[in-house]
Amino acid sequence: MAKLKRRSLARNLAELAARIDGSPVGRDENTVRVMSRLEAAVNRLSNESAAAARECERLSVAADHISEGVVICDESGEVVFRNTLAEAYAGARHGDALVERTMAELLANALEGRAGREHLDLWGPPRRAVVLSALPLQEQERTVGAVAVVEDVSERLRLEAMRRDFVANISHELKTPVGAVGILAETLAAEDDPDVTRRLAGRMQVEAERLGHIIEDLLDLSRIEAEEGPAREPVPMHAAVGQAVDRLQGMAEMRRIRLEVDVDHDVSVLGDFRQLVSAVHNLLENAVKYSDSGSTVRVEVGVGEGEVAVAVVDHGIGIPERDLGRIFERFYRVDRARARDTGGTGLGLAIVRHVAYNHGGQVSVVSKEGEGSTFTLLLPAGPACSRTLLPASPQPATT
Ligand code: ADP
Repeated sequence: MAKLKRRSLARNLAELAARIDGSPVGRDENTVRVMSRLEAAVNRLSNESAAAARECERLSVAADHISEGVVICDESGEVVFRNTLAEAYAGARHGDALVERTMAELLANALEGRAGREHLDLWGPPRRAVVLSALPLQEQERTVGAVAVVEDVSERLRLEAMRRDFVANISHELKTPVGAVGILAETLAAEDDPDVTRRLAGRMQVEAERLGHIIEDLLDLSRIEAEEGPAREPVPMHAAVGQAVDRLQGMAEMRRIRLEVDVDHDVSVLGDFRQLVSAVHNLLENAVKYSDSGSTVRVEVGVGEGEVAVAVVDHGIGIPERDLGRIFERFYRVDRARARDTGGTGLGLAIVRHVAYNHGGQVSVVSKEGEGSTFTLLLPAGPACSRTLLPASPQPATT
């Protein structure tokens, strides 16, 4: 009887081992052999399960690094995985609670075999837009669970809207001079009087120059925007300011505006020579454009704690307070008619702001209507800068 029991125990163990390691059940296996097979099978299983746990851990860490929230549920609808981003929606209130609710609905539909997608506008603050989608997870045509993904698309939508606005603005800006050239050419073709034709040709030239300016500024802006990590070489500021001043000298003389420069030879900035010349040139050009004939425009370069301040000071028409926060936007002009007279494109300060941004610096403005403006560029100092002589100034509007 005991022998029979031992045999059936050995047989049961042999069958168990066979189920674990997939080998056939041997005839006449004794308990010792079966036990060692079982031990080997259990060892293998435990190694495999440790490897699977490590794999799960790796996947979970990887899922925490993706920019979308991911939620997985099993076939009963119970959530079996959430990455950190999706965690934020669980048990949340207000807008995030709506995200969680929508996700639960999408997961329930997915478990019934229906994939789905929803766009939600969350009024905030801050205002956000999220896109949710869910899919059934299938194994051999059987739904074994569902996965939902939540993506915050606010930044993408904002950039798309900005791009659309930009294209609309460019088209509008180009349409005006192109239209003017067309009308002038038409009038010119029907005109015999040499005085009138000369005048019309002159106006055509002005419009063509305007077109040229817009295109030049656009190319400058797109080049500077493309160079996100500009060169970080010590740029002597007397050379960069000097080049910007040289380029402006003709225009300043025409308008009878005096340019004064105060920059020491040992002051340098860590950055890109071309971009820095472009920024100072744009600030100087504005200072000259928006100053009355006979006045003075001054460039002062000072050194502070690890940074260099380039201030362009004018005594021109100044900027109304309500516009100060917007003048750095592309195509923004305080007074379109006035800017057109001065040949403004509305891109100059956008270029300056981008140069400052590319250098890890900033640009700010202090201005009073009828009294003048001071634009200050703060940039990282280069090697030779050690003295402290930053000018004290009132609280500026910064961008
Ligand atoms: P624009 O090509 O029209 O000068 P900017 O982007 O350089 O374009 O400047 C935006 C607007 O800011 C200008 O249209 C002008 O109204 C105002 N602005 C800029 N600099 C000055 C300044 N130094 N004095 C007065 N207004 C200025």
